[in-house]
Amino acid sequence: MTVFEDFLKWTCDNEWGHSGHFERRLSNGTQLTVWDSGVLVVEPQSATDKDIIISCAVHGNETAPIEICRDIIQDIIAEQQPVQHRTLFLIANPASINVERRFVEENMNRLFSGAHSKGGITNPERERAAKLEQYVQRFYQEGGDSERRRYHYDLHTAIRDSKREKFAVYPFTHGKPYKQAQLQFLLACGVDTVLLNRAPTTTFSYFSAHQFEADAFTVELGKVRRFGENNRADFAAAEESLRQLVGQPEPDLPAFDPQQHFVFAEAQTINRQHQDFRLNFADDVANFTSFNKGELLAIDGDDKILAKHDDEHIIFPNADVALGQRALLTVVRVPTESLDLV
Ligand SMILES: [Zn+2]
Repeated sequence: MTVFEDFLKWTCDNEWGHSGHFERRLSNGTQLTVWDSGVLVVEPQSATDKDIIISCAVHGNETAPIEICRDIIQDIIAEQQPVQHRTLFLIANPASINVERRFVEENMNRLFSGAHSKGGITNPERERAAKLEQYVQRFYQEGGDSERRRYHYDLHTAIRDSKREKFAVYPFTHGKPYKQAQLQFLLACGVDTVLLNRAPTTTFSYFSAHQFEADAFTVELGKVRRFGENNRADFAAAEESLRQLVGQPEPDLPAFDPQQHFVFAEAQTINRQHQDFRLNFADDVANFTSFNKGELLAIDGDDKILAKHDDEHIIFPNADVALGQRALLTVVRVPTESLDLV
Protein backbone atom coordinates (compact mmCIF):
# COMPACT_ATOMS: atom_id res chain seq x y z
CA MET A 1 0.00 0.00 0.00
CA THR A 2 1.59 3.24 -1.07
CA VAL A 3 0.80 6.45 0.72
CA PHE A 4 -1.05 8.13 -2.17
CA GLU A 5 -2.92 5.03 -3.30
CA ASP A 6 -5.06 4.96 -0.14
CA PHE A 7 -4.03 7.64 2.32
CA LEU A 8 -6.42 6.52 5.06
CA LYS A 9 -5.34 2.88 4.84
CA TRP A 10 -1.65 3.84 4.88
CA THR A 11 -2.34 6.12 7.85
CA CYS A 12 -4.07 3.33 9.79
CA ASP A 13 -1.20 0.97 8.93
CA ASN A 14 1.12 3.47 10.66
CA GLU A 15 -1.17 4.33 13.53
CA TRP A 16 1.15 6.26 15.83
CA GLY A 17 3.16 7.98 13.12
CA HIS A 18 5.58 7.57 10.24
CA SER A 19 8.83 9.48 9.90
CA GLY A 20 9.11 9.13 6.13
CA HIS A 21 8.68 12.14 3.89
CA PHE A 22 6.50 11.72 0.81
CA GLU A 23 5.58 14.19 -1.86
CA ARG A 24 4.00 14.31 -5.25
CA ARG A 25 3.27 17.07 -7.74
CA LEU A 26 0.04 16.57 -9.65
CA SER A 27 -0.19 17.44 -13.33
CA ASN A 28 -2.36 20.43 -12.41
CA GLY A 29 0.50 21.82 -10.32
CA THR A 30 -0.95 20.95 -6.92
CA GLN A 31 1.75 19.86 -4.49
CA LEU A 32 1.04 17.07 -1.99
CA THR A 33 3.33 16.66 1.01
CA VAL A 34 2.97 14.08 3.76
CA TRP A 35 4.47 15.18 7.10
CA ASP A 36 3.40 12.13 9.10
CA SER A 37 0.75 9.45 9.03
CA GLY A 38 -2.60 11.21 8.79
CA VAL A 39 -0.95 14.55 8.01
CA LEU A 40 -1.28 15.73 4.40
CA VAL A 41 -0.52 19.23 3.12
CA VAL A 42 -2.08 20.19 -0.21
CA GLU A 43 -0.87 23.36 -1.93
CA PRO A 44 -2.09 24.84 -5.21
CA GLN A 45 0.43 26.19 -7.70
CA SER A 46 -0.49 29.79 -6.92
CA ALA A 47 -1.24 30.57 -3.31
CA THR A 48 -4.22 32.60 -2.07
CA ASP A 49 -4.69 34.29 1.30
CA LYS A 50 -6.45 31.30 2.87
CA ASP A 51 -5.04 28.47 4.97
CA ILE A 52 -7.59 25.73 5.66
CA ILE A 53 -7.37 22.83 8.12
CA ILE A 54 -9.87 19.99 7.99
CA SER A 55 -9.45 17.40 10.72
CA CYS A 56 -11.25 14.17 11.54
CA ALA A 57 -10.78 11.15 13.83
CA VAL A 58 -9.89 13.06 16.98
CA HIS A 59 -12.37 10.37 18.05
CA GLY A 60 -11.68 7.19 16.08
CA ASN A 61 -15.19 5.72 16.01
CA GLU A 62 -16.72 8.84 14.45
CA THR A 63 -16.51 7.43 10.98
CA ALA A 64 -18.61 9.70 8.74
CA PRO A 65 -16.12 12.58 8.90
CA ILE A 66 -13.29 10.11 8.25
CA GLU A 67 -15.08 8.81 5.14
CA ILE A 68 -15.64 12.39 3.94
CA CYS A 69 -11.98 13.34 4.40
CA ARG A 70 -10.82 10.07 2.81
CA ASP A 71 -12.95 10.73 -0.27
CA ILE A 72 -11.94 14.38 -0.66
CA ILE A 73 -8.27 13.44 -0.27
CA GLN A 74 -8.45 10.61 -2.81
CA ASP A 75 -10.31 12.87 -5.26
CA ILE A 76 -7.59 15.51 -4.89
CA ILE A 77 -4.94 12.86 -5.60
CA ALA A 78 -6.95 11.66 -8.63
CA GLU A 79 -7.26 15.31 -9.80
CA GLN A 80 -11.02 15.11 -9.58
CA GLN A 81 -11.29 17.65 -6.75
CA PRO A 82 -9.88 21.10 -7.48
CA VAL A 83 -7.65 22.80 -4.91
CA GLN A 84 -7.75 26.58 -4.72
CA HIS A 85 -6.16 27.15 -1.30
CA ARG A 86 -3.50 25.67 0.94
CA THR A 87 -5.18 22.90 2.92
CA LEU A 88 -3.98 20.64 5.72
CA PHE A 89 -5.85 17.37 6.24
CA LEU A 90 -5.42 15.72 9.64
CA ILE A 91 -6.54 12.22 10.53
CA ALA A 92 -5.89 12.86 14.17
CA ASN A 93 -5.98 9.53 16.02
CA PRO A 94 -5.54 6.57 13.62
CA ALA A 95 -4.94 4.09 16.45
CA SER A 96 -8.42 4.79 17.77
CA ILE A 97 -9.83 4.15 14.27
CA ASN A 98 -8.12 0.76 14.31
CA VAL A 99 -9.71 -0.23 17.62
CA GLU A 100 -13.07 1.33 16.57
CA ARG A 101 -13.24 3.36 19.73
CA ARG A 102 -13.52 6.99 20.74
CA PHE A 103 -9.95 6.83 22.02
CA VAL A 104 -7.32 4.31 23.05
CA GLU A 105 -6.27 5.57 26.49
CA GLU A 106 -7.40 9.16 26.76
CA ASN A 107 -9.90 11.50 25.12
CA MET A 108 -7.74 13.44 22.67
CA ASN A 109 -10.11 16.40 22.58
CA ARG A 110 -9.10 17.22 26.17
CA LEU A 111 -5.37 17.22 25.36
CA PHE A 112 -4.76 20.41 23.37
CA SER A 113 -3.35 23.80 24.35
CA GLY A 114 -0.60 22.02 26.22
CA ALA A 115 -2.86 19.72 28.32
CA HIS A 116 -0.95 16.79 26.78
CA SER A 117 2.06 17.71 28.91
CA LYS A 118 0.28 18.28 32.24
CA GLY A 119 -0.25 15.92 35.14
CA GLY A 120 2.90 13.87 34.72
CA ILE A 121 1.21 11.31 32.45
CA THR A 122 2.66 10.10 29.18
CA ASN A 123 0.81 8.01 26.61
CA PRO A 124 0.78 7.75 22.82
CA GLU A 125 -2.35 9.92 22.51
CA ARG A 126 -0.65 12.72 24.44
CA GLU A 127 2.41 12.45 22.21
CA ARG A 128 0.22 12.51 19.11
CA ALA A 129 -1.72 15.57 20.36
CA ALA A 130 1.58 17.41 20.93
CA LYS A 131 2.68 16.57 17.39
CA LEU A 132 -0.66 17.69 15.93
CA GLU A 133 -0.19 21.05 17.63
CA GLN A 134 3.23 21.34 15.98
CA TYR A 135 1.78 20.50 12.55
CA VAL A 136 -0.94 23.11 12.93
CA GLN A 137 1.64 25.69 13.96
CA ARG A 138 3.97 24.78 11.09
CA PHE A 139 1.15 24.84 8.54
CA TYR A 140 -0.12 28.27 9.56
CA GLN A 141 3.38 29.74 9.94
CA GLU A 142 4.54 28.45 6.54
CA GLY A 143 1.44 30.10 5.06
CA GLY A 144 2.87 33.47 5.98
CA ASP A 145 1.95 36.44 8.11
CA SER A 146 -1.15 36.89 10.24
CA GLU A 147 -2.97 38.85 7.51
CA ARG A 148 -3.97 35.50 6.09
CA ARG A 149 -7.41 34.00 6.61
CA ARG A 150 -7.13 30.86 8.68
CA TYR A 151 -9.77 28.18 9.10
CA HIS A 152 -10.01 24.93 11.03
CA TYR A 153 -13.04 22.63 10.91
CA ASP A 154 -12.64 19.71 13.31
CA LEU A 155 -15.25 17.17 12.27
CA HIS A 156 -17.05 14.84 14.66
CA THR A 157 -20.20 12.80 15.11
CA ALA A 158 -21.91 12.43 18.49
CA ILE A 159 -22.37 9.30 20.57
CA ARG A 160 -26.01 9.95 21.29
CA ASP A 161 -29.08 11.07 19.40
CA SER A 162 -29.66 14.77 19.26
CA LYS A 163 -32.80 16.84 19.05
CA ARG A 164 -30.67 19.22 16.99
CA GLU A 165 -28.81 16.82 14.76
CA LYS A 166 -25.97 18.97 13.47
CA PHE A 167 -24.30 21.55 15.65
CA ALA A 168 -21.01 23.32 16.00
CA VAL A 169 -19.11 24.51 19.05
CA TYR A 170 -17.82 28.08 18.67
CA PRO A 171 -14.71 28.24 20.87
CA PHE A 172 -14.36 31.03 23.41
CA THR A 173 -13.35 34.19 21.53
CA HIS A 174 -12.03 36.14 24.56
CA GLY A 175 -14.48 38.92 23.72
CA LYS A 176 -13.75 39.13 19.99
CA PRO A 177 -16.82 39.33 17.76
CA TYR A 178 -18.36 36.28 16.13
CA LYS A 179 -18.22 35.93 12.35
CA GLN A 180 -21.42 36.07 10.35
CA ALA A 181 -19.74 34.42 7.34
CA GLN A 182 -18.84 31.47 9.56
CA LEU A 183 -22.46 31.03 10.64
CA GLN A 184 -23.37 31.12 6.95
CA PHE A 185 -20.73 28.52 6.07
CA LEU A 186 -21.88 26.25 8.88
CA LEU A 187 -25.47 26.62 7.67
CA ALA A 188 -24.34 25.66 4.15
CA CYS A 189 -22.89 22.52 5.80
CA GLY A 190 -26.35 21.80 7.23
CA VAL A 191 -25.33 23.03 10.68
CA ASP A 192 -27.96 25.48 11.93
CA THR A 193 -27.10 25.22 15.62
CA VAL A 194 -24.10 26.82 17.30
CA LEU A 195 -22.96 26.61 20.91
CA LEU A 196 -20.90 29.47 22.24
CA ASN A 197 -18.21 28.41 24.69
CA ARG A 198 -17.76 30.94 27.49
CA ALA A 199 -14.31 29.88 28.67
CA PRO A 200 -11.09 28.36 27.31
CA THR A 201 -11.14 24.61 26.68
CA THR A 202 -8.59 21.96 25.77
CA THR A 203 -10.25 21.10 22.46
CA PHE A 204 -8.47 21.06 19.12
CA SER A 205 -10.64 23.86 17.70
CA TYR A 206 -9.97 26.20 20.64
CA PHE A 207 -6.24 25.63 20.15
CA SER A 208 -6.36 26.86 16.53
CA ALA A 209 -8.75 29.69 17.35
CA HIS A 210 -6.76 30.95 20.31
CA GLN A 211 -3.17 30.37 19.17
CA PHE A 212 -3.55 31.28 15.50
CA GLU A 213 -6.72 33.40 15.33
CA ALA A 214 -8.27 30.85 13.03
CA ASP A 215 -12.00 30.64 12.51
CA ALA A 216 -12.15 27.23 14.13
CA PHE A 217 -15.05 24.99 15.12
CA THR A 218 -15.82 21.57 16.54
CA VAL A 219 -18.48 20.43 14.10
CA GLU A 220 -20.88 17.64 15.07
CA LEU A 221 -22.37 16.25 11.89
CA GLY A 222 -24.69 13.52 13.16
CA LYS A 223 -24.56 10.24 14.98
CA VAL A 224 -21.73 7.74 15.39
CA ARG A 225 -21.96 4.70 13.14
CA ARG A 226 -19.48 2.13 11.91
CA PHE A 227 -17.61 2.42 8.61
CA GLY A 228 -19.90 1.77 5.68
CA GLU A 229 -23.06 2.21 7.80
CA ASN A 230 -23.27 5.99 7.44
CA ASN A 231 -25.99 7.32 5.18
CA ARG A 232 -23.81 9.68 3.21
CA ALA A 233 -26.83 11.64 2.01
CA ASP A 234 -27.15 12.91 5.62
CA PHE A 235 -23.67 14.42 5.27
CA ALA A 236 -23.90 15.59 1.64
CA ALA A 237 -24.31 19.29 2.44
CA ALA A 238 -21.26 19.26 4.70
CA GLU A 239 -19.15 17.34 2.19
CA GLU A 240 -20.18 19.59 -0.70
CA SER A 241 -19.47 22.75 1.31
CA LEU A 242 -16.04 21.48 2.37
CA ARG A 243 -15.26 20.62 -1.24
CA GLN A 244 -16.27 24.13 -2.27
CA LEU A 245 -14.20 25.63 0.55
CA VAL A 246 -11.10 23.87 -0.77
CA GLY A 247 -11.89 24.05 -4.47
CA GLN A 248 -13.51 27.44 -5.11
CA PRO A 249 -12.25 30.98 -4.50
CA GLU A 250 -15.18 31.31 -2.04
CA PRO A 251 -17.79 28.71 -1.07
CA ASP A 252 -21.42 29.37 -2.05
CA LEU A 253 -23.04 30.86 1.05
CA PRO A 254 -26.74 31.35 1.78
CA ALA A 255 -27.83 34.94 2.48
CA PHE A 256 -27.59 35.74 6.19
CA ASP A 257 -30.91 35.42 7.95
CA PRO A 258 -30.72 35.47 11.75
CA GLN A 259 -33.92 33.41 11.95
CA GLN A 260 -32.16 30.41 10.40
CA HIS A 261 -29.53 30.12 13.13
CA PHE A 262 -30.12 28.59 16.55
CA VAL A 263 -27.51 29.93 18.92
CA PHE A 264 -27.01 28.61 22.42
CA ALA A 265 -24.74 29.85 25.17
CA GLU A 266 -23.14 27.76 27.87
CA ALA A 267 -25.18 27.81 31.07
CA GLN A 268 -23.43 25.23 33.28
CA THR A 269 -20.39 23.01 32.89
CA ILE A 270 -20.71 20.14 35.33
CA ASN A 271 -17.43 18.44 36.09
CA ARG A 272 -17.51 15.13 37.90
CA GLN A 273 -16.06 15.68 41.39
CA HIS A 274 -16.91 12.41 43.13
CA GLN A 275 -16.61 8.72 42.41
CA ASP A 276 -20.29 8.53 43.29
CA PHE A 277 -21.73 10.45 40.35
CA ARG A 278 -24.91 9.84 38.44
CA LEU A 279 -27.05 11.62 35.91
CA ASN A 280 -30.72 11.91 36.76
CA PHE A 281 -31.98 10.85 33.33
CA ALA A 282 -31.83 7.80 31.11
CA ASP A 283 -28.60 6.86 29.38
CA ASP A 284 -30.08 7.30 25.94
CA VAL A 285 -31.56 10.78 26.42
CA ALA A 286 -30.90 12.93 23.36
CA ASN A 287 -28.58 15.91 23.24
CA PHE A 288 -30.55 19.18 23.47
CA THR A 289 -33.24 17.65 25.68
CA SER A 290 -34.48 20.53 27.82
CA PHE A 291 -35.13 20.84 31.54
CA ASN A 292 -36.80 23.54 33.57
CA LYS A 293 -35.41 25.57 36.43
CA GLY A 294 -35.05 23.50 39.60
CA GLU A 295 -35.18 20.09 37.91
CA LEU A 296 -32.53 17.65 39.09
CA LEU A 297 -29.84 17.01 36.47
CA ALA A 298 -27.23 15.02 38.38
CA ILE A 299 -26.04 13.90 41.80
CA ASP A 300 -22.34 14.28 42.49
CA GLY A 301 -21.44 12.80 45.89
CA ASP A 302 -23.77 14.74 48.22
CA ASP A 303 -24.30 17.61 45.78
CA LYS A 304 -27.53 17.94 43.85
CA ILE A 305 -27.07 19.69 40.51
CA LEU A 306 -30.19 21.49 39.34
CA ALA A 307 -31.17 23.28 36.16
CA LYS A 308 -30.73 27.01 36.72
CA HIS A 309 -32.98 28.22 33.91
CA ASP A 310 -36.19 27.24 32.20
CA ASP A 311 -35.51 25.57 28.86
CA GLU A 312 -31.97 24.61 29.84
CA HIS A 313 -30.72 22.03 27.32
CA ILE A 314 -28.29 19.26 28.14
CA ILE A 315 -25.42 18.31 25.84
CA PHE A 316 -22.67 15.67 25.91
CA PRO A 317 -23.81 13.91 29.11
CA ASN A 318 -21.32 11.24 30.13
CA ALA A 319 -21.27 10.00 33.73
CA ASP A 320 -18.23 7.80 33.08
CA VAL A 321 -15.68 10.54 32.60
CA ALA A 322 -12.53 10.68 34.74
CA LEU A 323 -12.78 12.68 37.98
CA GLY A 324 -12.49 16.40 37.31
CA GLN A 325 -13.65 16.08 33.69
CA ARG A 326 -16.85 17.38 32.18
CA ALA A 327 -19.80 15.07 32.70
CA LEU A 328 -22.44 17.42 31.34
CA LEU A 329 -22.81 20.74 29.59
CA THR A 330 -26.00 22.76 29.68
CA VAL A 331 -26.93 25.59 27.34
CA VAL A 332 -29.67 28.16 26.88
CA ARG A 333 -30.88 29.76 23.66
CA VAL A 334 -29.74 33.29 22.89
CA PRO A 335 -31.20 35.41 20.08
CA THR A 336 -28.91 35.53 17.03
CA GLU A 337 -29.60 39.26 16.87
CA SER A 338 -27.99 39.71 20.29
CA LEU A 339 -24.59 38.45 19.13
CA ASP A 340 -21.67 40.75 18.47
CA LEU A 341 -21.33 39.78 14.79
CA VAL A 342 -18.98 41.04 12.11
ZN1 LIG B 1 -16.04 13.48 18.71
